[in-house]
This record gives sequence, C-alpha cells and structure tokens, in this order.
Amino acid sequence: METALETQSIETLIDEHVKRQKDYFRAGHTRSIEERVNQLQTLKELIKANEKEILNALKKDLNKSETEAYLTEIGILFEEIRFALKHIHQWTKPKKVKTARTHIGSKSYQVSEPYGVSLIISPWNYPFQLAIAPLIGAIAAGNTAIIKPSELTPNVSSIIARMINENFHPGYMYVIEGGIETNQQLLKQPFDYIFFTGSVPVGKIVMEAAGKQLIPVTLELGGKSPCIVHKDADIALAAKRIAFGKLTNAGQTCVAPDYLFVHEDIKESFINEYTSIVKKFYGDQPLEDEKYGRIVNSKHFKRVESYLNDGHILFGGRTNEAILKIEPTLMEPESLEVPVMQEEIFGPILPILTYQNIQEVIDTTSQYPKPLALYLFTKDSTIEDQVVENISYGGGCINDTIMHLASPYLPFGGVGESGIGSYHGEDSFHTFSHHKSILKQTNKMDLPFRYPNAKNSLAIIKRLMK
Ligand code: NAD
Repeated sequence: METALETQSIETLIDEHVKRQKDYFRAGHTRSIEERVNQLQTLKELIKANEKEILNALKKDLNKSETEAYLTEIGILFEEIRFALKHIHQWTKPKKVKTARTHIGSKSYQVSEPYGVSLIISPWNYPFQLAIAPLIGAIAAGNTAIIKPSELTPNVSSIIARMINENFHPGYMYVIEGGIETNQQLLKQPFDYIFFTGSVPVGKIVMEAAGKQLIPVTLELGGKSPCIVHKDADIALAAKRIAFGKLTNAGQTCVAPDYLFVHEDIKESFINEYTSIVKKFYGDQPLEDEKYGRIVNSKHFKRVESYLNDGHILFGGRTNEAILKIEPTLMEPESLEVPVMQEEIFGPILPILTYQNIQEVIDTTSQYPKPLALYLFTKDSTIEDQVVENISYGGGCINDTIMHLASPYLPFGGVGESGIGSYHGEDSFHTFSHHKSILKQTNKMDLPFRYPNAKNSLAIIKRLMK
C-alpha cells in the first residue's frame, strides 16, 4: 500500500511525465518514419543486449525455463519488430480510396496519424512480452508511450524500467513502475490512447476510467477458452499440442486451453495419451522438474489449488505450496456450476467434459461469455465449419493450440468479454493510428445540385442516390 504522501508524489511524477510526453509529441519528434525506424532498431538492440538479464528475471519471477522464456517472451518480439521494420514505409503511406459518383471531380485518401500519448498497462504472466509488444505498435504508428508493467513480477518490471528509462528520451517512452494505486493515478490522466492487457474485472475499471474522458481503448482480456477433440482427431498429436498449450508457463497463459470437450468414443485413449505425453515432458515428478513453471504467488496458488476439490482427479493433482507448484492435472468436474467450470483457471488443471454430438459443444460453449480462443482437433471440414461458424470467439487454431498468437499475419484479440480490439503485425500499427479521411475537392467545377437555389435538385439527387 502506498502512503498518502507517496500517492501525492506519484501523482506529481505522473503529471510531469504525461505533460512532458504531450510536449514531445506536439513538437513532432515522433512523426518522422526514420525516427520510428531508429527507435525500433534501438529497442531490438536493447533486448538483445539485455537478453541474459531478461531471462534471469523471468526465471526469478515465474521459474520460466530459458527455452520457454525465449520462445514466448523474446523471440516473438524480434519477429514483431522485424515485421514492423519491413512494412512500416508501406503502412504509413497515405492510402488512395475510390471516389463516389456523388463526388465526381474530387479525390479521396486516408492518412494514418498517431493518437499522441499512449498508456500501456501490462499483466504478469508474460510480463516482458506483453509490455513491449504493444510498444512496438505505438512506436511504429508514431506515438509516445508510458508503460506500467505488472507489480507482481518485480524483477521483470525493474529490467523493463531500466532498459527503457536509461536509453530513450522520457518524452518518447517512459516506464512507471507501481501497483494498483499508481494505475489509478495513471487512469486519471488525459492520455490519447490506452492499451490494457489483463483480467476482465480490471478491464472494466480501465474502460470506465477511459470513458470519462472518451479515450479510445484496446482491451486484451481473458476468459475460458475451450478445446475440442473430435473422434477423428490424431489423438496422440492432439494430446501433445494440448499439453504444450496448457502447460507452458504452468497454464498461466491468456489463450491456454481452459477446459476440454472430448468425444465420448475417444475419452479413454485421450486420457492415456495426455498422461503419457505429460510424463515425457516433465517426468514422473513434475513438481521437481526445473523446466516446469510455477504459479506466480501464493494468492493465485491457493485459488488454483482450490479447483482440485471441484471434481474427480484423473491424473496429477499433487501440489507443493513451498515452491508454488501444481502438477499438470486432468479432472472430471462435478458439474458446470463448480468454480473450475465458472472461472478462468489460469493454471495447469484441465477439466474434461465429453460429448456425442458437436451441437452439444456449440450449445454448452454458448452459455459462457465469448472466449478469447478456441481450439478444435479434427480432420473433418464439416465439423470445422460448424464450430467456426456457430461459436463466437477471439481466434484460435484447428489441430493446434496457442500458436495463432505468434503469427504477425493474424490479428490477435478478443470479442465480447474477452476483449475489444486487436494487435500484432499490421494490426498493431492500425490499433495505434487514427485513420483520417480526406476528400480533396476540385475547383474546376462545382456541381450545383446540393445548393438550396439549384433547379431540379431533388430529382438529380434521387437519381444519384438510389
Ligand atoms: P490484472 O487485471 O489483475 O492486472 C493487469 C494490470 O492492471 C496490472 O498492471 C495491475 O497493476 C493493474 N491493476 C490490477 N488491479 C487494478 C485495479 N483495481 N485498478 C487499476 N489497475 C489495476 O491481470 P493479471 O492478473 O496481471 O493478468 C491475468 C489476466 O490477464 C488473465 O485474466 C489473463 O487471461 C489476462 N491476459 C490477457 C492477455 C491477452 O492478450 N488477451 C494476455 C495475458 C493475460
């Protein structure tokens, strides 16, 4: 908890930083494409130079293994920066658009302009990647940014702060570390854009605060992402890819498969395959395996552990509070009403439901808020079409899990309760840009029918606009 004095000084500090960025933006420093390219290249070099320290911090905060951390927190950023550098000149060009027949003689085009000073708020589960990935979009689009990393991963937060604050102009980019009070102060500021990644309840707080000043927002939220295994699926491969998506970062991934729908005919073989692949990944004692991640803190450990009481354990189920680890677990929930089937699990527990007809899956998932992701394992394109057409969700994979979020060609974001807006690749640029529409009128002629003194104007308008 911050004291009243600290709150006041945080308020003053935030005030100064936002004013500084407003001035810096108005002075035009972030506008030139060359400058954006320079900043992105510097960012890339800094990530490279600090790679070891970033990986160490991720180990300390979340026990992430080097390979997992590189893949999900660093490699993905290099890919995003490379993509932005390759396409930025194309993205920033004004786009000519057609002229409507009612506007003959004029030309029309769209210009992408930066919003101005943006605020990026990030969570703890991918604490490095989720603070920097939106920043890439903010810079590419010509904005300044204040970044507020998660207080729950303090080692990563401090590295982000050092890396950015010691190497960039504070008018361009600045990291403000802190907890909820700091965020509350930030949300009172007149930002031009807010990009929030985190939970649904805090997303609502952010949107309410943004609404008071009509600040546009992107909300990257979470939810319960279903995973369906149809009877024709390659079961061993499905089990492997589901275990990968579920157990990376010990299940603390916004797009991790939250619960399973397995066709009744293949339930037993799926359970056997899942059990055997988890043993191959993490051995018979996963709690002792260095590669296996831990839960972020004891509050979340207790929350996830409590779900073990919500049904019958099929595999796993052991925990160790001292090291904040919970075994990869498969369970059959008692009903759809128990907490493990009502809340986002955000841990390595996988409840399994069965179905006979795909319509049952469509009906059940439709009872939940629209999820961030959905995964379907099948070779049958009719089943694929039925699921894709009848269930609304942010995005997902057929015959894989979580990999869709690592492609810069696929915009990533939720729908309904799982979020508003999307980013990655070109979408990051568009998210942080306002698209200004311009009509450039000719002076060579002046069609008279819109003026009040024109003759037969209604007849002409009706002919043109039917
Ligand atoms: P969170 O919402 O608790 O915290 C996110 C940020 O909000 C943090 O920086 C925190 O300091 C701040 N915050 C927390 N409480 C606040 C309050 N009352 N007022 C103002 N600010 C507040 O989320 P988390 O626990 O850090 O992350 C886990 C959640 O994030 C999960 O629901 C997960 O699905 C979601 N998530 C979504 C994505 C995505 O890309 N869609 C990615 C990662 C995580």
